[in-house]
Formats: sequence, C-alpha cells, structure tokens
Amino acid sequence: MSYAISLIHEAEAVAVFAGAGMSVDSGLLPFRGEDGLWTKSIVMDGKSYSHLELMSNHAFIESPNAAWEFILKLKEKYEQTTPHQGYSKLLDVLKDKAHFIVTSNVDEHFLKAGFDEHSIFECHGSVNYMQCLDILEREVWITPEIKIDNLQLEDLPACPNCGSMCRPNVLLFGDWFWIPIRSTHQQMRYIKWCKEMKATKRKLIAIEIGAGKTIRTIRNAAESITLSDFPLIRVNPFDIETTSPNHVSVQMTAKEFLMSL
Ligand SMILES: [Zn+2]
Repeated sequence: MSYAISLIHEAEAVAVFAGAGMSVDSGLLPFRGEDGLWTKSIVMDGKSYSHLELMSNHAFIESPNAAWEFILKLKEKYEQTTPHQGYSKLLDVLKDKAHFIVTSNVDEHFLKAGFDEHSIFECHGSVNYMQCLDILEREVWITPEIKIDNLQLEDLPACPNCGSMCRPNVLLFGDWFWIPIRSTHQQMRYIKWCKEMKATKRKLIAIEIGAGKTIRTIRNAAESITLSDFPLIRVNPFDIETTSPNHVSVQMTAKEFLMSL
C-alpha cells in the first residue's frame, strides 16, 4: 500500500483506468458485473423487463418508451449524484503530472469532478450523448432534457437529420449498432498521449481502479499499457491477483485508496 502510494507520487505521468467500482463508491449501481443492474428487472407500464432487455439496440426499436424511460432515469441519477471525494483527491495528486483517464463508466463523473475533457477516453460512451438508430448517420448529439413522467412516443428524441428514433450513444449489450465516433476521437488523443509519454521518456505508471473480472475491458486496457515495463497498481476490493512482478495489488475500494493518497 505505501509502496503503491510512493510509486504514484514519484511518477511523472499517470494513466488511470477506472471501472464500475469508481462510480459505485459515489452510490451508483454498477451496470455490468455480477451484481450489476443488468441482473435485475424493472416493471414499466405493467410489463416486466430485465435491464439487459432494455439496454439493447433492439429495445429502442421494439419498446422505445420503456428503453428511454430507463435511460433517462439513469441519466437523472448520474446528474443528481455527486462524485465522491476520491475524484478531487486524485485530481489534486495528478494536476502537476501528465495524466490520462480511461473509463468504462458512462456517467461523465470525471468531467463533473473537474478533469479536462481532452484527457478522458470513455470507452463505452456517455449517457449524455445520443445517436440515430440508422448507423449510416455516423453522428452523435447531446441528449436533450426530456421530462420522464408520462413519457409519450412523441416526446422521445428524434434524429435531427432524418427524424427517426434516437438511442443513447453508449455501448449496449451485444451491440453492433453503436456509433463510436466520439469515443474514437478520445481514443486517438489517448494514443497520441501514450506516444508522447514514450518519446519523452516520462516515468509512467498505470493505476487501475474498481475494475472487475466479469467484463475485462478496463483490466485489459490497463495491462496492455504496462506490457512495456511500466508498473501497474491494481485497486479493487476483490479479485486483485496480478500476473506480473511489475504489478502491485491493493485490496481496497476506489474511494478508500484515493483518500489515502
Ligand atoms: Zn437519422
């Protein structure tokens, strides 16, 4: 633990990889994972849906009212929730170091906590953006404010180009229809940042926070950057085993660890 903290303070550049555990500590339910929202069901208009059903491209075609109601409630919850203090502690530690945030969370809480939008890669998108169901559009727009009560079909957001139904610009389950144009732009900035860190021989470390094993996106991203001999600090309350002598494990929640920096 103290070794992990000294690594962070001595580093010149820090890549942060944040999974659902980072948001859970602010009081938000994880979406994926073993106890994620997708394992639960919800009743809308007298019909029971699993979250898994509602978070699919198909749902926005077959049951758009229910699917949008679920998304808008999720968006409202994200807006009403304050990012926990660990975010500002992390920002304080990183403000004088080169840094980049890679996150699978779609709640924009890093942005809300004050991190620079040009230093964030949201690999699963953001609930604050939407796209047309026609993937040939290749555009995304900010999701407008829509009243959730008594949501009617005509209240649902329409594509500014062709007028058809929109859906959130987040990676849904089994999703072949996500338009990752915004996320790809962020990823290009992240790749450029990595190249710059290597070219300028910065003392780089990676911190992986709150990323589980069920969906390995964030773990894989964190492990891939450390292949070139940078240390990785893995922070999670469980499943903290690592495979490289360069990796350091800390069995703590995201907030507990960040508040100890
Ligand atoms: Zn369209």
